[in-house]
Amino acid sequence: MQPQLRYNSRLCTGCGQCASQCPRQVHSFLDGMHKVDFTACSACGACVDACPSRALKITGYEADPRQIMDVVLKDRRYYGTEGGLTVSGGEPTLQPDFLLELLSLARQEQIHTCLETNGYIPAHVLEALLPLTDLFLLDYISQAAALAKTHSCICKTEIMPYHSLGADKWEELGLTYALAGIADPAPEQKRCWESILHP
Ligand code: SF4
Ligand code: SF4
Repeated sequence: MQPQLRYNSRLCTGCGQCASQCPRQVHSFLDGMHKVDFTACSACGACVDACPSRALKITGYEADPRQIMDVVLKDRRYYGTEGGLTVSGGEPTLQPDFLLELLSLARQEQIHTCLETNGYIPAHVLEALLPLTDLFLLDYISQAAALAKTHSCICKTEIMPYHSLGADKWEELGLTYALAGIADPAPEQKRCWESILHP
């Protein structure tokens, strides 16, 4: 994942240290308001080091599949017979070459593989994934009950209601949260859905 700047306005004191260190004029102050031009940022990290309030950080880093596998292997002794590698996202199948290489490496190391996906996968990618993936976690948005009843290969279904816990991250990355204003479902709504899935 490309490194990106994150800015938490709740921690910012407006001291201006970041602006004095940034070579790209990403930080500006107008009428006491701190503006961050994320589009101009190169994620060099200079402002992060200068910030006394930890309001800034660099999130994400680039790595190839071999580097990821080296990290996975460090915890090998904890996986036991049931643990292993779970690839989630975002949607991991949007990076099929990377994903297939990572899963192939896991196969070579005899590590159990799990893939969390929305299932919207091109046929040729799915065909390549099948022999490399021990377990699919399918995030299916609708008609889940019907799907679970008609497919015997589905071993377990669970309702995970929408929640807005990640909304702050979008703001901190300077992105628009497309689901703003959508309320988390009430507990009774979740119970209603569960009664359909497990009557
Ligand atoms: S990470 Fe570098 S380019 Fe980006 S805002 Fe900070 S100092 Fe400027
Ligand atoms: S250095 Fe940190 S606390 Fe100071 S203005 Fe910049 S982000 Fe805010």
